[in-house]
Amino acid sequence: MWKDTMAIYGDLCITCGACYPSCPTQAIYYGNDGVFHVEPTWCTLCGYCKDVCPVMAFYQTRVYIG
Ligand code: SF4
Ligand code: SF4
Repeated sequence: MWKDTMAIYGDLCITCGACYPSCPTQAIYYGNDGVFHVEPTWCTLCGYCKDVCPVMAFYQTRVYIG
């Protein structure tokens, strides 16, 4: 099954953490690789994270979630 979701360009993320509390579904998490990520299953594409990111690291994409 494919799902539209927000995602983060890891090379742009400066780990400011602003997006983390902005997500109403807690889809954003801090990964072992030292940057933030979006869990596609929980993302509703509300766009709040994109609005608060100072470096415009968010982009919309479509991923296969099985
Ligand atoms: S678009 Fe909304 S639901 Fe998806 S990660 Fe961003 S804040 Fe969370
Ligand atoms: S708001 Fe942007 S720069 Fe800050 S942690 Fe989230 S993705 Fe990274």
